[in-house]
Amino acid sequence: MTHDKLTVPRPEAHDLSFRDWIGGLCQRVLEGGAVSPDEAARMLDATGADTWDLFAAANRVREAFQGLDVHLCSIVNAKSGLCSEDCGFCSQSAHFASPVPEYKLVSADECTRHAEAAKARGSQALGIVAAWRGLKKGKVLDDVLDRIRAVAAVEGVNADASLGLIDDPEIPALLKQAGLVTYNHNLETSRSHFGSVCTSHSYDDRVQTLKLLKQAGVSTCSGGIFGMGETRQDRVDLAFELKALDTDVIPMNFLNPMEGTPMEDSALLPPMEALRTVAMFRMVNPRTEIMLAGGREVVLRDLQPLMFAAGASASMAGHYLTSGGRETASDWHMIRDLEMDYRPEGAERPPSEIDRLAGRLPEPTAANIRAGGAQVHGGNRNRSLPVLSAPVK
Ligand code: SF4
Repeated sequence: MTHDKLTVPRPEAHDLSFRDWIGGLCQRVLEGGAVSPDEAARMLDATGADTWDLFAAANRVREAFQGLDVHLCSIVNAKSGLCSEDCGFCSQSAHFASPVPEYKLVSADECTRHAEAAKARGSQALGIVAAWRGLKKGKVLDDVLDRIRAVAAVEGVNADASLGLIDDPEIPALLKQAGLVTYNHNLETSRSHFGSVCTSHSYDDRVQTLKLLKQAGVSTCSGGIFGMGETRQDRVDLAFELKALDTDVIPMNFLNPMEGTPMEDSALLPPMEALRTVAMFRMVNPRTEIMLAGGREVVLRDLQPLMFAAGASASMAGHYLTSGGRETASDWHMIRDLEMDYRPEGAERPPSEIDRLAGRLPEPTAANIRAGGAQVHGGNRNRSLPVLSAPVK
């Protein structure tokens, strides 16, 4: 999909047939009904004013089932690079020559600092992300459990994790005992497109991991990356795969092509195409937390506020795994300007929120917290902050 979309004829402005159709569908979803795959596909074909009727429906469904507040979530790249898998979008795969830092699992103290930085951003969770094929019992698992306990000990921040494939049915319960709340494992794309993205493991390996976690009572977070050469039908298929798995959170990433990967020359998804996809996911999964994640800055650009109008109920805040996110204060301003809030009613607000909104304090990062108050409160706030917040070892 390219900007050829701009040449597609728009519906005649007086033709209200799409508005009437999506209005009826919205009503059905609000009453507990479901949309069909064909209806979801029609949403992705909307053009012109019809697109705004789609957003209005998705926004209403979001508000009905998720309320006005949005959630923020942060991650730490707790182990970077040298992954044995060959996911074509990923700069951390050992199969590609991408210029990313390589380091082993960071310490529990480092995870605590990231959890504190996440809390200072107003995030409700910190995801510990480690790039490897999966967990086996032994020292690696013991070390991971240690890091989960460290994050779980920070009040007000959920300990989440994304640690790759799991095939040992006993491991999810051990993660949960250590304090894990949510496990992220993305399906990435549709079943039929998956083979074009990754060959070192199967779609069913991923589905099985999610099922094991769910059986153990761990909350699941699974979504995809859009703009990897998939068709609109692939996006519909993914929305329904995730619905069938009853995931608690759906993270939606947009491909931000990384140097050295097979997808480095891919075109960015046009922003309105990305937003229609968000709206379709909301209509198919009305009660699920839908979180915009990697690539939102480069793909949506000035249209970022529309992610919530299109049905997203959460967003990543801070940096991503191998690329920088935007300043948290900009996200806070955006959410406030939309007359929304990033803290649930009654939840403690981040300390120094007013100072951060006014630009008197710099970004809350683990690096700033590690350095202590001097840099946070000093006159050094214009220094450039590291893109990656984890230390490179
Ligand atoms: S996406 Fe995950 S599993 Fe795939 S190469 Fe990257 S780190 Fe490894």
